[in-house]
Amino acid sequence: MTLATHLEKLEGHLARFRSGGILNLIDGKDAAGAGGVFETRSPVDESLIATVARGTAADVDRAAQAAKAAFPAWAALDGAKRKAILHRIADGIEARAEEIALCECWDTGQAWRFMSKAALRGAENFRYFADLAPGARDGKSLPTKDHLNVTSRKPIGPVGVITPWNTPFMLSTWKIAPALAAGCTVVHKPAEFSPLTARLLAEICHEAGLPPGVLNLVNGLGEEAGKALTEHPAIKAIAFVGESRTGSMIMKQGADTLKRVHFELGGKNPVIVFEDADLERALDAAIFMIYSLNGERCTSSSRVLVQESIAEKFNAMLAKRADAIRVGHPLDPETEVGPLIHKTHFDKVTSYVEIGRQDGAVLAAGGNRVGDAGWFVRPTLFTGATPQMRIAQEEVFGPFLTSLTFRDEAEALAIANSTAYGLTGYLWTNDLTRALRFSDALEAGMIWVNSENVRHLPTPFGGVKASGIGRDGGDWSFEFYMETKNTAFAIGNHKIQRLGA
Ligand code: NAD
Repeated sequence: MTLATHLEKLEGHLARFRSGGILNLIDGKDAAGAGGVFETRSPVDESLIATVARGTAADVDRAAQAAKAAFPAWAALDGAKRKAILHRIADGIEARAEEIALCECWDTGQAWRFMSKAALRGAENFRYFADLAPGARDGKSLPTKDHLNVTSRKPIGPVGVITPWNTPFMLSTWKIAPALAAGCTVVHKPAEFSPLTARLLAEICHEAGLPPGVLNLVNGLGEEAGKALTEHPAIKAIAFVGESRTGSMIMKQGADTLKRVHFELGGKNPVIVFEDADLERALDAAIFMIYSLNGERCTSSSRVLVQESIAEKFNAMLAKRADAIRVGHPLDPETEVGPLIHKTHFDKVTSYVEIGRQDGAVLAAGGNRVGDAGWFVRPTLFTGATPQMRIAQEEVFGPFLTSLTFRDEAEALAIANSTAYGLTGYLWTNDLTRALRFSDALEAGMIWVNSENVRHLPTPFGGVKASGIGRDGGDWSFEFYMETKNTAFAIGNHKIQRLGA
């Protein structure tokens, strides 16, 4: 596959959206938005991809009512039948994986080399939760001398799923698959910057036999359609992936209707490299975790903490590799870093170059725009940063790495834990006892020792502090999408106090 063949195929897939726009899908039917349309443009050259239905509170209400109406039958469906439908959805994703990946690259700017796998990971998410569907209701038996306590789980009801623009297809499947497997119905509000593949997912689900109303798609702006979804009384829970400050807004918006919330938010994740580490592997992992997916990745290793004794050498290794990264068209199979999603995001990321310089850090690689069309930035590295600098504290969410040094383990830990975030941490050392001690004290929901981020679906995914509330993965997902009920059966004549007897 070459860039030219990718572009030719992409045109074929986009033709229908260019003429008809990207519509909402409510109660199994295409629907325009009550708010008219907005545009989605490619970050490669700002060209118009398609107009998109702009959903308002009225559209969200119709979708929520459809989800409410579809809920009893979907929740009551035998788990084995839900399993079969979810596997058919996975089949549909696999059959259209190339189309999904091409559209995702063009809409988000993410490089083909990563997106082709992300589409398939979406299918894996469906297969994994499909297999868990028949057991989702299972509970525990907790007997006492007098009672048999039996727990069971029921799906919570219609839920709202709100997703970001960075890897929208994979993240949508990650939320929607467990919700459907649990027996919930869904209203999905994708990010306005990258709506294309959410539409493909909704189509695939319906083609696979998902009944109307079980998954509803409402495109629109965050403060309009998103807000309405978080406030809707028929929606029992909100699964949200996005920025920490949006999470805080959603919590406020959902307060009146007592929404259950699950938040996967931002990060400023440290990769800590001790002098005894395998430096070549640590280098590969640190570079991969910050520059893959354009650095637009919640789990990116955006701070590297290097032990003083190896800092000069390791920083030089980082700079050399950052300089050699291939920035280019996202559909070119050779490309490693594509354009940032949008001008506003490009402005944000590049503003941190000036902030880093003014704060006195050293620009050791990148920092500049590539070309004058599209939102391409050279992979950027700042060295000589200190822990309180903004580039060491704030989420940049781009191909932007901040390098700090530490003297000893205690200082490394203090720096690592010094930000508001706590999503992931990456630790490189060959000292086993230190690895155990350090990972125990590191404030993060997920830690990888001598590894880059390798996701295993049964493990819990989520963050602490400003990085999130709740966990995804395995049974943790069902804990969010389901209510647990306990029923106590008396198994004898236990003593009942006889008031007024
Ligand atoms: P964002 O918070 O701006 O938007 C996310 C979604 O929320 C969009 O669909 C948006 O329309 C919607 N939204 C915005 N305001 C809203 C409101 N008031 N009410 C309801 N919905 C609203 O985030 P983004 O810029 O799209 O994504 C980047 C962020 O996502 C980064 O901070 C990144 O770390 C985070 N992220 C986290 C994870 C994770 O698993 N922890 C994964 C991917 C991305």
